[in-house]
Amino acid sequence: MAHRDYYKILGVKEKASPNEIKKAYRDLAKKYHPDANPGDKAAGERFKDISAAYEVLSDPKKRKQYDQLRQFGPGGFRGFDAGKGFQSWEFRQPHGGGFSFQDLGGLGGFSDLFGDLFDLGGRTRQARYGPRKGEDLHFDIKVPFDMAISGGRTVINLPREEVCPNCSGTGSQPGFSTSVCPDCQGRGVITIGQGGFAINRPCPRCYGRGTIISQPCSNCAGIGQVKRTRKVSLKVPAGVSDGGKIRLRQQGLPGMGGGPPGDVILTLRVGEHHFFRRRGRDILCRIPISVVQAILGSRIRVRTIDGKVELKIPSGTQPGTTFRLKGKGLSVNGKRGDQLVTVDVRVPKSLSEKQRKLIEEFDREGA
Ligand SMILES: [Zn+2]
Ligand SMILES: [Zn+2]
Repeated sequence: MAHRDYYKILGVKEKASPNEIKKAYRDLAKKYHPDANPGDKAAGERFKDISAAYEVLSDPKKRKQYDQLRQFGPGGFRGFDAGKGFQSWEFRQPHGGGFSFQDLGGLGGFSDLFGDLFDLGGRTRQARYGPRKGEDLHFDIKVPFDMAISGGRTVINLPREEVCPNCSGTGSQPGFSTSVCPDCQGRGVITIGQGGFAINRPCPRCYGRGTIISQPCSNCAGIGQVKRTRKVSLKVPAGVSDGGKIRLRQQGLPGMGGGPPGDVILTLRVGEHHFFRRRGRDILCRIPISVVQAILGSRIRVRTIDGKVELKIPSGTQPGTTFRLKGKGLSVNGKRGDQLVTVDVRVPKSLSEKQRKLIEEFDREGA
């Protein structure tokens, strides 16, 4: 096989920036992806070339090595000591139950890129990588204000991918035949290039399974996984804040190649309260009092998260004055905040004839 010009394959200049390379790859990969071209062998071949080119050109180290080698021209590669020059990405022998790709740093990025390039209905077609932790899942959950303050339990529905029970994850409808993938001969990986340039990547034709299915599973459409919803009882600790996060370890997507599952990361969205607001550890509220209470002073009952307490309003209290109820706020990290009560003085909008006379009399006294 003749040496392939990766720059030509991606249609970029030799001095192309990483972003230009990424963009060219995305555009081409979308166009030639096997999902978009079912049964089109030429497109499949093209896709492999594009992927191989991207894997090298997207990695600064590999790109540099490639550029150096390129100067030798098409005939110059055989003479190169692949064992030294390409240790980091040379073909690796399969061992154990899977294939080790850990040194092929570009593959991880490749797979991640796939995730947002091709929405496979949320189902990831996983190739046989070395052990890799599953992806984390992120969700927002609503927490009522009272629960955020006092803590409590809430039930959440977590989507989860499970091995399809109908086909046991093979993707093949039971009773129908499967055949060995002709592209990868059942290995699940294909080798691109030769000598120092030979690299392994998941077989795009069989998605790394090594088999071709004659009849896709009716339950999972051949993916091998199904979406399930799982009810999970979640303990919300007292004093959580809006935007706070709770991590549920190993509840995310399954790991690959024996790797552990990812986590579920919940972002708390604390609801509003008709009376209380929060500022850190402190709880804020506003209470209406009458003009007379403000002038003469009074004792009022104020709701706190511990129940009602009495608050003394001194005579001559000005509108907008804030009183502090010590230790009536939230307990965060063992320290309790305060409740800040701001008074709104309500001025009567209409007066009886008698009230008016009394107020006028009050005014004449020159208060
Ligand atoms: Zn199935
Ligand atoms: Zn294959």
